[in-house]
Amino acid sequence: MIPALMPTYNRADLAFERGEGAWLWTADGRRFLDFGAGIATASLGHAHPHLVQAIAEQAARVMHTSNLYRIPQAEKLAARLVETSFADSVFFCNSGAEANEGMIKAVRKYHAENGHPERFVTICFEGAFHGRTLATLAATGNEKYLAGFGPPVQGFKHIPFGNMNALRDAIDGSTAAVMIEPIQGEGGVRPAPLDVLRQIRAACDEFGVLLALDEVQTGMGRTGKLWAYEWAGIEPDVMSSAKGIGGGFPLGAILAKEKVAKYLKAGTHGSTFGGNPLACAAGNAVLDVILAPGFLEQVERVGRYLWDGLQKLASRHPKLVEGVQGMGLLVGLKLRPEVANGDLQNAAAAEGLLTVAAGMNVLRFAPPLIITEAEVDAALGLLERACLCVAPQGTPANGLPGGEKAAAQ
Ligand code: PLP
Repeated sequence: MIPALMPTYNRADLAFERGEGAWLWTADGRRFLDFGAGIATASLGHAHPHLVQAIAEQAARVMHTSNLYRIPQAEKLAARLVETSFADSVFFCNSGAEANEGMIKAVRKYHAENGHPERFVTICFEGAFHGRTLATLAATGNEKYLAGFGPPVQGFKHIPFGNMNALRDAIDGSTAAVMIEPIQGEGGVRPAPLDVLRQIRAACDEFGVLLALDEVQTGMGRTGKLWAYEWAGIEPDVMSSAKGIGGGFPLGAILAKEKVAKYLKAGTHGSTFGGNPLACAAGNAVLDVILAPGFLEQVERVGRYLWDGLQKLASRHPKLVEGVQGMGLLVGLKLRPEVANGDLQNAAAAEGLLTVAAGMNVLRFAPPLIITEAEVDAALGLLERACLCVAPQGTPANGLPGGEKAAAQ
């Protein structure tokens, strides 16, 4: 019989009762070090006092009023995002897919309003992941996810990731935008080389095409800068954000330059929940922490520390690991074809370390941004034990997620 909760996920048989910082506990007292952060989302870790207080206080005042009225919390959050990014204006929504859906609409609207409705095609990259709505599925372009859902939404073209020749060939009179994740997250923690991002920006300028960045996973400090595009020294025309922006509270955003945003006038786009007082109170609390002096520098430092540790682990396990890739606190271990990432993920969970699988046989580490070097050391120790349990041919010594007994609570 079908479970009451629709079975759209293959869930691990683990349920967490509470969390604190980078740690999660099951009801039976097992403790796990969370290097997945709810898929790069719990940016401040679990039960961060500032975030908890902001949400509790706002919930006790007013949660939701609708966008029929002014929302001071949203106005404040938008102003702070404008101040700390390339953008001139922000639209709030509730998820990454919704932010991308709106971003796709925005680039089409820009060209239509500029007298070129024929320019509606967004060029995307193989290996991308942009979400599960019909348009973002078409932007993702993965046959596996599209199958069975009817004809894909029109207006998307896919080219090999980071291939500039293919990009220049693909741009034509129908092109509205180039849409790219600075680091492909679900696709395998694959960074676009910074120089390629610069060349994409230049090609967009040359052909009058918009650059649309999907920073749903890479944004909000994950790479050690507030936005990953900063590493390349470029600016997009429009960008999506979600995941870490609410620290676990559902919140997404489209950030845009005025030339794009000005066409999203009243009546062109909307959301009932988007930017409500509660979500924006969460967003503001997350920003308070991430923008505090020294916070992003520490993310960068601890990211390098994690990277170095993973490199050493990789060199000790050449039969399991091909290499390390990623940036900041979005890092992946690329495994050899003989070792399934799911097996190492299960073995790590059995040791008490939570990670997330990604495409191309990569095991992804996206811990809360508040982790310490000591927690990285702990994670590397658990991962080392997991590596020793996973034979190159595949099966973990320990099948089911186990966790640490809660000795050190
Ligand atoms: N874009 C990127 C880069 C993502 O990693 C994801 C989710 O993994 C999405 C979009 C979709 O976000 P959501 O699941 O919040 O709709």
